[in-house]
Amino acid sequence: MKPHSLRVFADRRLCFGAGACAVAAPATFSLDGDNRVVVGDVGASDAESLVFAAAGCPARALGVQAADGAWHVEAQRSSPP
Ligand code: SF4
Repeated sequence: MKPHSLRVFADRRLCFGAGACAVAAPATFSLDGDNRVVVGDVGASDAESLVFAAAGCPARALGVQAADGAWHVEAQRSSPP
């Protein structure tokens, strides 16, 4: 697997537990007991899988950012708690 320096963000308030991310990049994403996403080891998945997983989130709860700050996938903004 090619190393990468992507950063991954998850807005757990938006996540509704569809689980698509955990299927696309199981080495990084999982669901907790509340059925909301947990971001684990970002380096354990290749860049393509991370971008694919975030782009496929139906809640747009996931963001993937390059080291230079450019967004590969930008999550939607949730309203403040
Ligand atoms: S794909 Fe999106 S909604 Fe589904 S578990 Fe992952 S973050 Fe949550």
